[in-house]
Amino acid sequence: MRLRHLAMELSKLPPHPQHDVTLEQYATEGDFAARWIAEIIARGDLDDTTRVVDLGAGNGILGIGCYLAGSASTLLVEVDPNCQHVYEGVDWFIGDVQDWSGENVDLVIMNPPWGAQIPKADRPFLQTSFGSTAKVIYLLHSSHSTHLAPLAESMNWTGEVVLRGIFRIPALYTHHESQNGETEVSVWRFERR
Ligand code: SAH
Repeated sequence: MRLRHLAMELSKLPPHPQHDVTLEQYATEGDFAARWIAEIIARGDLDDTTRVVDLGAGNGILGIGCYLAGSASTLLVEVDPNCQHVYEGVDWFIGDVQDWSGENVDLVIMNPPWGAQIPKADRPFLQTSFGSTAKVIYLLHSSHSTHLAPLAESMNWTGEVVLRGIFRIPALYTHHESQNGETEVSVWRFERR
């Protein structure tokens, strides 16, 4: 599927409800998701044998993008049941990330809470994915965070930033009611050491 076509398909998904401040629901936009997935394919990490899990899936934009790009299977893990919608070909696990088994996965993709509202809210996502059967993990996080590489190292993973971008943060989170904020984000790629 062409990049533009993928971006268009992903932009048509039901929008993330983004109603719960404590869950840090910053949604990825279609263009950025498509660029990210193109990067994953270019690196040889996604083909028709790859089992994908999207943690903190929201409307499923990242996992569904991998599915449209031809993954073998896709599971969307999300705690907020308001995010769930029917999308043929992908499965949902509605529950906390820590209750997902971590099994039957080759690639984890995620844009989890960054821990800006509730300190360390990203840790269960990192620990669960580093402890899973995945061979490779893609993670979007604030470019300001400094804990990711050391945490990965401590769990015998190694990572590098493979993509950067600008994210729009909904007014709900910026404490300026009329204004959307912007922040720099980095996409990390982790593999086992
Ligand atoms: N991946 C989507 C959504 C990112 S926002 C995107 O990129 O657009 C982070 C998501 O993580 C939110 O939808 C939020 O509801 C979910 N989330 C927060 N804490 C969670 C937890 N403990 N377990 C599972 N999902 C969680």
